[in-house]
Formats: sequence, structure tokens, C-alpha cells
Amino acid sequence: MKLSTKAVRELVAAAKKARLKAYCPYSRYPIGAAVLTDAGRIYTGANVENASYGLTMCGERVAVANAVTRGEKALLAVCVVGRSPKPCGACRQVVIEFSSKDTWLIIVDLGGEGRRETVSKARMFSMLPGAFDPLEAGLLPKNPQNLLNRRTRRGKTRRTRR
Ligand code: ZN
Repeated sequence: MKLSTKAVRELVAAAKKARLKAYCPYSRYPIGAAVLTDAGRIYTGANVENASYGLTMCGERVAVANAVTRGEKALLAVCVVGRSPKPCGACRQVVIEFSSKDTWLIIVDLGGEGRRETVSKARMFSMLPGAFDPLEAGLLPKNPQNLLNRRTRRGKTRRTRR
């Protein structure tokens, strides 16, 4: 799946806008995230911190939860925006749950302090080698509707578009 320049631009703009809604009074480290689903829709998230620090939610996971709770479970791309905003390990595993081998991760580093903004792109699966695989572990049924089954059939994935 090749992402169009327009799709990337829209995804980045959505993540930047979501970043403005971050709740981060403790870290003062706002992160915006956006996911593009196979239905062509974009869902966003931002980090939501808590006074009990361990309860903090990362922006990527908020965006994924927004998509999934609207019935969309197949991600084409995930974008994260901030200062050196590389997704944490927990978020990588959560995003992979809804990714295929073709899902992109787009990282927008806003720079600052003399550094300019940079955009980098990688396949999501390359970002978490040896990810926990619920199919291998026998936790999910091996049926053709299962998103995770699409991982091994690269290029043959059939996506339904509305
Ligand atoms: Zn995270």
C-alpha cells in the first residue's frame, strides 16, 4: 500500500491538531497522534497524563482506541508528532495488534532549539522485531476475517472500501 502525499499531509495535520489537546501538566511533553484506517478515515489522540503517573495514556494508544471503538480495526498508517516522538514499546505492541505488514509509521519530529522539523517513515513491523504474536500463541482463532492473519499474505490482502 503506497500512501499518497495528500494522505500523509492530512494525517500529519490531524496529529498536529490533536497535539494541541494533550493533557500533560506533569511532563509538559505534548504528543499528538493520528491513525488512518482502511476505510480512509482518520482518528486522533493525544497523551493524557494523570497525577498517578503510571495511569498516563500515550497519544498513540488513545488514537487506536478511538478508531477501534468506532468499529475500525485495520490501520494503514500511524502518525506521531512531538519533540523526538518515537513510540514507546507498549504503543508499538498495541499498534501492531491492528497493523498489517504494510502499515506505515510516520514520525514527525518538530525539532526546536536550532533543529528543524523532520518527517521519517518506516513499516510498523520493523519498529518492534519479535513482537508478541497472539496468533502464534494460540490466543486468536486462525480465520480469514482475522486482521492478524493478513500479515502472512502480503500483497494478497483484500480490503473492503466503503
Ligand atoms: Zn506509548
